[in-house]
Amino acid sequence: MFHWRAGILPGVSAAFTDAGAGNLALHVGDDPAAVQERRRRVEQSIGVAPQSLRFMNQVHGANVAVMDAGSPSPEADGMVSRGLPLAVMVADCIPVLLAGTAATGPVLAAVHAGRPGVASGVLPAAVDRMASLGASGIRAWLGPSICGACYEVPAALRDEVAELVPASWSATSWGTPALDLPAGARSQLEAAGVQVEYSGTCTLETESLYSYRRNRNTGRFAGVVWCHD
Ligand SMILES: [Zn+2]
Repeated sequence: MFHWRAGILPGVSAAFTDAGAGNLALHVGDDPAAVQERRRRVEQSIGVAPQSLRFMNQVHGANVAVMDAGSPSPEADGMVSRGLPLAVMVADCIPVLLAGTAATGPVLAAVHAGRPGVASGVLPAAVDRMASLGASGIRAWLGPSICGACYEVPAALRDEVAELVPASWSATSWGTPALDLPAGARSQLEAAGVQVEYSGTCTLETESLYSYRRNRNTGRFAGVVWCHD
């Protein structure tokens, strides 16, 4: 069910699911009841209450929502909470989980960082929102995503994104223009004073993960961050 799972702070854990957990997205034409059942199984496996794991309607923007107990599922690409469990869904984009500590306890974030999100600064925006809740010592875990040697893009698009985020400039292993989103994300996080603790493998090259580029009509795996005793 999990590609990677670890304790990241005292009382806080993070994980990235794999295809063994099944598709966790409601927007890819899968049976909604089956998706909800898979989400329940993930919640059970990490030991959080049923339906407490918060998902967002991801729109490739830079909006970051601060989640309270009653908040509806936001239209956003980042969520920040004072401990509510958060999830981000991906299949090639980067699932980024962040955690920091405030006087009130852990501050968590889950961010969907695809090409538009990296270009528009959704990661620095999430770090700002965490800091606004008093978080310090913020660290980040970058889950599996398409790598800089696989993510081929038109030359003009590479130029456009690399002008905004120079570290994202890349070439494929076969020599054509590419973007290295994990490198771009890392540079943005480090510039914001955040230490990157983990960076995942390539989705396109890893059969046990979902990859939009490999199988267009595919499911989504998830990055999940939660608090526990
Ligand atoms: Zn790759």
